[in-house]
Amino acid sequence: MTESPEPARPASGSTPQPTSASPDASQPPHATPAPVVLPEPTSTRPVPGELTFQAPRRGKPPRHLADFTPAERKQAVESLGHKGFRAKQLSTHYFERLEDDPEQMTDLPKAVRSQLVDDLLPTLLTPIVQRVADDGQTLKYAWRLHDGAIVESVLMRYPKRVTICISSQAGCGMNCPFCATGQAGLTRNLSAAEIVEQVVWAARALRRGELAGGGDEDREAPLRVSNVVFMGMGEALANYKASIGAIRRLTDPTPDGLGISARGVTMSTVGLVPGIDKLTAEGIPVTLALSLHAPDDELRNELVPINTRWSVDEALDAAHRYYEATGRRVSIEYALIRDINDHGWRADLLGEKLAARGSGWVHVNPIPLNPTPGSKWTASRPGVEQNFVERLRSHGIPTTVRDTRGQDIDGACGQLAAATA
Ligand code: SAH
Repeated sequence: MTESPEPARPASGSTPQPTSASPDASQPPHATPAPVVLPEPTSTRPVPGELTFQAPRRGKPPRHLADFTPAERKQAVESLGHKGFRAKQLSTHYFERLEDDPEQMTDLPKAVRSQLVDDLLPTLLTPIVQRVADDGQTLKYAWRLHDGAIVESVLMRYPKRVTICISSQAGCGMNCPFCATGQAGLTRNLSAAEIVEQVVWAARALRRGELAGGGDEDREAPLRVSNVVFMGMGEALANYKASIGAIRRLTDPTPDGLGISARGVTMSTVGLVPGIDKLTAEGIPVTLALSLHAPDDELRNELVPINTRWSVDEALDAAHRYYEATGRRVSIEYALIRDINDHGWRADLLGEKLAARGSGWVHVNPIPLNPTPGSKWTASRPGVEQNFVERLRSHGIPTTVRDTRGQDIDGACGQLAAATA
């Protein structure tokens, strides 16, 4: 399997090492799992093909600095009776210094500090499980949110980049039958800050040197998060406002945001056409990934039920408009499922549909299916996978099989959260 030059979705690796089983003192203190308090279920398992756009109503997460634009932060600070410039100081601590200890925020007088920290930097994520795979180069977290909902993120080190795969919703309403998250239904949308916090946690873990590999352990500067992919739990375009807010916080230069290059951010979608068009209009050059999984409506209606609203051609047209507006090459995600969508004729049909819309605008990332527990489906045979790749390439479509990180630690798509819940 080739290593993809693009940010990769998590999936296989070495032996899982749940930190709970490891008394190793070098493990960070937060790795100890706290007792799990489960939320009352608010999502029901969807029936096949059912789509859920509205998340069940639950208590809102506490507000947080990372929910706000710089102007809104200033207002929030002033409405608490403090000077507006305190907003910038807080932003510098949070986004630039990645400070998690209020005691270190010594430029804020003590009384001011405790009020501002309590109000604008509440704890949003509590780590309940942390697992290590791929010789320490993959770290997977499951987080408990304020209301007991559970989400996950995966941090992966590659030779020239560090990628975090984040969640935008607890659960998902898109009900793709091969995806563990889709099968669990939608619990709720995450707030912008809950999305951003996953990246800030990762940035802090990197600063503490918790991610191994790269062969440059003697490097002086700490590693930084270079890539963020919305490929954890949820359909980010169905939680549009919070996801765009999060993208702004991730890409705004420090201290207003984390200063991650927009080119390093990938928005992955089932193909919500109005959402793709809205993203196009934002003018932020993030990478768009379209989870296609079939080139024909008949099969895609089953594999990606949103296809009954927006067809393959409509989704591809929207993806092409995105490319035209941003110049960013679009990724097509294609989980290869044995004898379901891996036929040579489907590779040809996909190749034709993509080539018909132009050249250089798209590339395809086939991914071997990571079977979910109890699934009747499995990954394509290697020869079939290779044939699929070659057929696509013969149409002039750049194609790279994704690597599969963290498979043994339930790295794929909602499996850790599902195992935890
Ligand atoms: N809602 C977004 C993000 C979902 S997860 C989207 O659909 O794009 C990111 C990718 O992982 C998607 O392409 C999704 O289809 C794929 N995926 C989900 N479950 C998978 C599985 N069991 N094996 C392989 N890929 C899977």
